[in-house]
Amino acid sequence: MEKEQKRVLITGAAGFLGSHLCDRFIKEGFKVIGMDNLSTGSMKNIEHLFPNKDFEFYFHDVTKFVHVPGKLDYILHFASPASPIDYLKIPIQTLKVGSLGTHNLLGLAKEKKSKFLIASTSEIYGDPNIHPQNEEYWGNVNPIGPRGVYDEAKRFMEAITMAYHTYHGLDTRIVRIFNTYGPRMRLNDGRALPAFIGQALRGEDITVFGDGSQTRSFCYVDDQVEGIYRLLMSDYTMPVNIGNPDEITILEFAEEIIKLTGTNQKIIFKELPTDDPKQRQPDITKAKKLLGWEPKVSRQEGLKITYEYFKKVILEK
Ligand code: UDP
Repeated sequence: MEKEQKRVLITGAAGFLGSHLCDRFIKEGFKVIGMDNLSTGSMKNIEHLFPNKDFEFYFHDVTKFVHVPGKLDYILHFASPASPIDYLKIPIQTLKVGSLGTHNLLGLAKEKKSKFLIASTSEIYGDPNIHPQNEEYWGNVNPIGPRGVYDEAKRFMEAITMAYHTYHGLDTRIVRIFNTYGPRMRLNDGRALPAFIGQALRGEDITVFGDGSQTRSFCYVDDQVEGIYRLLMSDYTMPVNIGNPDEITILEFAEEIIKLTGTNQKIIFKELPTDDPKQRQPDITKAKKLLGWEPKVSRQEGLKITYEYFKKVILEK
């Protein structure tokens, strides 16, 4: 007998991570239902999937009641503005998609008996007092600062997901995503990587915020998707960090991009945004042990692919 095809709902399907997840699940033989309200996503990221009979798209805002006919084996909630510029521009929507949106999707998962995975983030650790950050750390978040709308929405998202797990017996997964990059990031989303590459390609000065001594650890998107896929298929219900522990200061990162693009751009320093975390590096001991996962793509390799992507995007404009 032929195995029945599994159906997965992916919210934020037209976004950076959501669209890569759609690709991955299509490749694995799933029926993929992508959902997005296109507030920060782009149809360009998924239009190649439209001819595929296993792909379906719903233009919908998950903060409103969500209905999907038929069975759903899995729900992955990846809808949310995800860059500081976005959530400063649409703070209330950011809060709503993490809270009301998650609640609606949990209701759907309960009704359909779906396995449910949420995209949480290293932002729930805030400006961390321990380094590297492991999953047992509770974080240092300013609830009323500019990042609070994102950080607290994600923290609420974890809380309500855990509550549905505990009180309704829902099968849930929580991935804590650290800085991830790759093709389909938006050139103008204000994040360091697209900002620096875009500036280099346009011949502008590279804008480093603060003195550039703050650190981040950048994970290539294929590694991130692999980690998420493995977590979903595992039976572990507590949060798991997925990210690349290869840490770098933002100033060194800017220099790396200048070298990569061969543009010799000047670095200029701008004011550090409020509550910008000083350091960030995932402790991935859990992911290694439980999922047999660790990143495979070096920053050098990943940046090259991403640079080629942005070059094409700029040429098409
Ligand atoms: N950053 C910067 N110049 C830019 C954009 C960002 O120096 O043009 C800094 C930002 O202040 C932060 C780091 O780069 O310290 C990473 O920023 P990003 O927005 O990519 O990610 P997040 O702060 O959410 O980790």
